[in-house]
Amino acid sequence: MNFEYVRASTAAGAVSMLAKQSDAVFIAGGTNLVDLMKRGVVSPMRLIDINTLPLKEITLSGNKVTIGALALNSAVSEHPLVIKHFPLLSYALKAGASQQLRNMATVGGNMMQRTRCSYFYDTVMPCNKREPGTGCGAMQGINRMHAIFGSSENCIAVHPSDMCVALAALDASVIIRGAKGDRKILFTDFHRLPGNTPEKDNNLQPGELITHVEIPVNAFQQHAYYLKIRDRASYAFALVSVAAALEMQGNKISKARLAMGGVAHKPWRLTEAEAFLKGKEATETNFKAAAALAMQGAKAYEHNSFKLQMAPNAIAEALKKATSKA
Ligand SMILES: Cc1cc2nc3c(=O)[nH]c(=O)nc-3n(C[C@H](O)[C@H](O)[C@H](O)COP(=O)(O)OP(=O)(O)OC[C@H]3O[C@@H](n4cnc5c(N)ncnc54)[C@H](O)[C@@H]3O)c2cc1C
Repeated sequence: MNFEYVRASTAAGAVSMLAKQSDAVFIAGGTNLVDLMKRGVVSPMRLIDINTLPLKEITLSGNKVTIGALALNSAVSEHPLVIKHFPLLSYALKAGASQQLRNMATVGGNMMQRTRCSYFYDTVMPCNKREPGTGCGAMQGINRMHAIFGSSENCIAVHPSDMCVALAALDASVIIRGAKGDRKILFTDFHRLPGNTPEKDNNLQPGELITHVEIPVNAFQQHAYYLKIRDRASYAFALVSVAAALEMQGNKISKARLAMGGVAHKPWRLTEAEAFLKGKEATETNFKAAAALAMQGAKAYEHNSFKLQMAPNAIAEALKKATSKA
């Protein structure tokens, strides 16, 4: 399929170019979009290259760090401000993909990457996300990688990102540019559950551009851990991952932030487990009790029931690793 290629030189220009054509899309690193185009999963008529927009900066101002949407995954993971303030984000990024991919992949592209559900990628199979109304092939099919939380009768796919799990745990926000100006939403409100509209991965509106991610400075540096369980040691998406960030006073947890990847259509924040852990001693019994709380409402399908055991074990293990750090 032929397509047109244009380059945007300003954020406002990119937004107005996108608004003019409904089947136009932005291209950043291209590491997901080009794969999807080659497989015929998406066929945009126009690619708007945003790589020359000035959105690569990572800066500290007041009590927050702002990361441009075009900052490369590798640059973010190695940036001194990120290593100093948010080691969890650095760990999560380094657990994703490969160095070559991280050298191309951008923050905005990572947030917008599509699910790795094989029925979504296989254009001869039914998939409500790719082609609404065709059904969900994974529901009765091979669903080993799929969701145990928040799925619907229309879609059981999971969001594949590692970076986004850390950003959900770190109370980040997303700055979005649209035709009417900028808006800001919580990172945990950016991605969405499938419901009746699984074709929508997130709450970005047509014609909008992600420009930045903001993360409030916190005190989780000493006790942060990203645990990723996958089929291979590298170059594989998470079966289950856990981002754990804690503030400790002695052996007591004064604040906890937890999120999981590989288990839902969006990064899955574990707010009940966080509330339970506040003020508790860092003991294996408390980790297991927090994990049990986090697993309430989990539902497995034919091939992914192992996640019902793997996920709580991963939560307890991530907490153990985070609390045992000096
Ligand atoms: C073999 C392989 C293994 C991988 N393993 C992992 C892994 O283990 N963990 C993980 O997290 N990821 C993994 N990835 C995914 C990788 O992280 C993503 O492909 C990458 O982050 C996408 O970023 P990009 O800049 O290349 O996006 P692109 O491919 O350029 O774009 C992706 C989508 O984002 C949209 N977009 C891009 N920027 C913006 C913006 N600023 N505003 C609005 N929309 C935008 C595009 O229109 C497009 O729809 C893997 C990828 C591959 C190919």
